Amino acid sequence: MEDSTVHPASFICQCEKIRIMKPVIIIAIAFVLLIPLPVFAQDVYIQIDDLPEWADYASNVMYLSTEAWKEANEGLQFYKVDSGSDFTVKWVREFGGEYVGYAYGNQFIEVGLGDSNCGNHWNPYSESYMSHIMKHEIGHIFGNEHDNNPDSIMYPVALNREYGVVEEEYRLTAGYGQFVPFCTIKDLTSYEFSFSTTDETYGFDYYIVPSGDEFDKWVESGTFQHYSNKDCFGEGWLSISGTCKGVSAGSGIMILLGEDLTSPLVTITVKQYEQPNIINSKSPLSSKSITNPGVFSPVGSELLDSAEQARDELQRKLFDMKYKKIHDESVIKLQKEKQEREEALENKLREEKYQAEIQQMREAQEKIEAEKVIQQKIEEKTVSSICGTGTILNKNGQCVPEPPLHGDPEPSSKGGGCLIATATYGSELAPQVQQLRELRDNKLLQTE
Ligand SMILES: [Zn+2]
Repeated sequence: MEDSTVHPASFICQCEKIRIMKPVIIIAIAFVLLIPLPVFAQDVYIQIDDLPEWADYASNVMYLSTEAWKEANEGLQFYKVDSGSDFTVKWVREFGGEYVGYAYGNQFIEVGLGDSNCGNHWNPYSESYMSHIMKHEIGHIFGNEHDNNPDSIMYPVALNREYGVVEEEYRLTAGYGQFVPFCTIKDLTSYEFSFSTTDETYGFDYYIVPSGDEFDKWVESGTFQHYSNKDCFGEGWLSISGTCKGVSAGSGIMILLGEDLTSPLVTITVKQYEQPNIINSKSPLSSKSITNPGVFSPVGSELLDSAEQARDELQRKLFDMKYKKIHDESVIKLQKEKQEREEALENKLREEKYQAEIQQMREAQEKIEAEKVIQQKIEEKTVSSICGTGTILNKNGQCVPEPPLHGDPEPSSKGGGCLIATATYGSELAPQVQQLRELRDNKLLQTE
């Protein structure tokens, strides 16, 4: 888990503007992506940043990703906490460039909420795609490196990019058409859609076509090809929703307005949602001829559109700047916190070592003291054994006779040896006895 490597190039996006997009990779279709085993049973605490208000489509992503890891690793548990987490999850509106997810060491994860790689504006990712990214980045948190197996969740290229519901509005006038690309990168897929117009009387025709080229053909010659499965085309609708199955990468929607409109400009709302299911067969193509009425200038809506695009762009830039600031700040903060933790740990260890040394010294001191006491006792015993039987050492260091239980205290003030001297010299008051006494007291007893 001690990995401070940055994994910025986790995912590579194969997207270009969809009109010129060719499938550049063979997409490996895998219902269940391999999740590396084992992580070992443990409790994992995650701090999850709140999703932006507009991104509630991602509210299940964390649940789905952690469930997948739990299923693959028995005993693994995840807990959402407000502080003291093992790692933090942050959301990014759009990374820009090729990244859709990011793991910083084992400290935090950032997951993209969408990108601007389809059409000319930002689109949200689908729940399943975001869950895929999240699972991959959690893999990094658990210390997994990239894996060359395309079925592994640790495969570094995020295949099957999917958007959530993509909604756009187009201002059109009579006889005008619009091509709206689907945002898929799959070879074969299905789209749920819903289209509506602000005109309450005159409807629109729609055709789901294999590429933007069909729209150009309609402009040039009025003849084009479209998918002919159920729901894949319709005429004269004010509002319609359905599912067109079996369309390929590069396909999209052609919306065509007739000659009659209630007002000069109508707004067409186009919603598209790529279905996560796998499709086996392609919708057949049919030819269609509609005389191009020749009225083909986007009227004043171009100005409106470019003003809106500029505003969107500005908002995106502001968001990116704000995000970058938050991102940089959190990196600095996390690094600072890590340093502080390390310093605190170092201080703690140093303090513990210091305390242990003090304790050791104290114990050694106590041992010395104890030994001293024992030594003293031994010495006392040794010294007292210097005096002969029936005598004891008095406080002046003299061997004196043990006091008898009854009787004359006089002999007790004299040394035991003195009795012999007294006997030799006839009286204890004899000058020779006194001389011997002084010799004993001053020399013999003082030199141990
Ligand atoms: Zn990665």
